[in-house]
Amino acid sequence: MRIESKCIHSGYEPKSGEPCALPIVQSTTFRYTSAADVAALFDLTKAGFFYSRLANPTVDAMEKKIADLEGGVAALATSSGQAALFTAIATICRAGDHIVASSTIYGGSFNLMAANLRRFGMEVTFVDQTLPDEELEKAFRPNTRLVMGETLANPALTVFDIERFANLAHRHNVPLLVDNTFATPALCRPIDYGCDIVMHSTTKYMDGHAIQLGGVIVDSGRFNWANGLYPEFTEPDPTYHGTVYTEAFGNLAYIVKARVQIMRDFGCCQSAQGAFYTDLGLQTLPLRMERYSANALAMARFLESHPKVERVNYPGLPSSPEHALAQKYLPNGCSGVTSFVLKGGREAGARFIDSVKLATLEVHVADIRTCTLHPASSTHRQMTDEQLAECGIEPGLIRLSVGLENIDDLIEDIAQALENA
Ligand SMILES: *Cc1c(COP(=O)(O)O)cnc(C)c1O
Repeated sequence: MRIESKCIHSGYEPKSGEPCALPIVQSTTFRYTSAADVAALFDLTKAGFFYSRLANPTVDAMEKKIADLEGGVAALATSSGQAALFTAIATICRAGDHIVASSTIYGGSFNLMAANLRRFGMEVTFVDQTLPDEELEKAFRPNTRLVMGETLANPALTVFDIERFANLAHRHNVPLLVDNTFATPALCRPIDYGCDIVMHSTTKYMDGHAIQLGGVIVDSGRFNWANGLYPEFTEPDPTYHGTVYTEAFGNLAYIVKARVQIMRDFGCCQSAQGAFYTDLGLQTLPLRMERYSANALAMARFLESHPKVERVNYPGLPSSPEHALAQKYLPNGCSGVTSFVLKGGREAGARFIDSVKLATLEVHVADIRTCTLHPASSTHRQMTDEQLAECGIEPGLIRLSVGLENIDDLIEDIAQALENA
């Protein structure tokens, strides 16, 4: 099947007489009639459901759909995107390990990696992803175990050269993890370019309606965990009766370990109701991504031609320094988020925000509604202009997540707000 059909039919195949819509299995537990059946489940020799922290039929269907969309072998849903990143890393790395990550990643991911992972004894080196390979090589250490970046970064809107970073990671025998939240598999499939593990905040475009938090990890099934650098995959796990993940699960070793170790012990699971909402969003994903991309490109073109706008960030614009990479990785559209810098600085930014009518002021992106934010008067308001400059945020920077309203209505609203700014 092609992506539009997978979004509708993958993951859940009702048998004769069963509901067409994905049923919400609102149950924590599952009944069995023999001790041997339960023993087989606990020994991981048989697949099945026994407790919804580990697996639930509704969540399972949504996971299978996303794995199929990304071209992976299996997926694990989590309670949020943050939980997906933590789970993805904790399955691979432990105290004493080192990670190389792009510096232009989501702020929450940066905090997790820069501050909290350090508390767990892991270290992260953040690199400028535009540096040539010779410079990037210098970030690697003997204890490096993972490389990470974002296909289309939130909010920097830089495009990650997935193929180049996959080759770089593989030269060091370590996997590449890509956060594909902003692109979604409708616009880019990182596994097609050599990425080993994909993660998402499903809270964004996959849900698409700003109703359900969630995350997901997809395993390509292609990384060789038995290359000598990952003893937790090749040595017996005493908490699972001495299971050796690479021997028992082959190309599913990573995703099984993520589920039965990290999800079991940290418990950041998705709910059946949450998976139902996420799956509902997924059914229209390709259609929505096409329109988000068209609306955002039209908006970016309008902004670029406006006299009050100093600069527009959108990889779909031919003038963007990211355009060449966007043509390779995002040929069918660059998603819905754009940002621009107003000429009047901090005051103009605040006046713009106070003047928008159709666009809503919210600390979110990838909503079905167009939403906008002025960091200098909201999320970063305690900072001086000099401090903002250090974080790469101009005082007049506006983030605009273009929604699915009519584009003429949107441009009219932004035009009148620009007049007032
Ligand atoms: C929002 C976001 C996250 C975090 O996801 P939550 O669902 O909010 O926990 C991670 N990565 C990216 C790129 C995001 O946009």
